[in-house]
Amino acid sequence: MAADPNHPCLACRIVAGEARPAGGIVWRGDGLTVHGVADACPIPGWLVLTSDRHARALYDLQPAELAALGPAAARVMRAQQAALGAEHVYALALGDVLRHFHLHLVPRFADTPARLRGRGAFDARPEDALPAWRVVAAAEAVRRALATGG
Ligand SMILES: [Zn+2]
Repeated sequence: MAADPNHPCLACRIVAGEARPAGGIVWRGDGLTVHGVADACPIPGWLVLTSDRHARALYDLQPAELAALGPAAARVMRAQQAALGAEHVYALALGDVLRHFHLHLVPRFADTPARLRGRGAFDARPEDALPAWRVVAAAEAVRRALATGG
């Protein structure tokens, strides 16, 4: 049912504005883009930080992209904590499905069920999917926090 995410590359399409995940683009800069997760989202504020340039994985990023990655990821994670009340934020880069570097930034809340913690977020059931308005509202809250220097 789902199209092959690598032909054409879904991350490149999101960066180019040809595909728009729920929540849209949350932040851009320094060769990086932060956007809502493309699949059904079980965790409010689950965002993805991707390289604007097509690169297979972290090991293929260029020095400037690598230098920008840490500060950008930390800034988004702090915004997820401040704007959403997340008690922790996971940073997960797997790259088995979509072969374009991307880092999942997944908030963990006090009430996040045990089975959705850590990499369990990827095993969410269809009924765990949040309504679109919650996904959009969470992305918007993080976007505001980032815009105000959060
Ligand atoms: Zn790509």
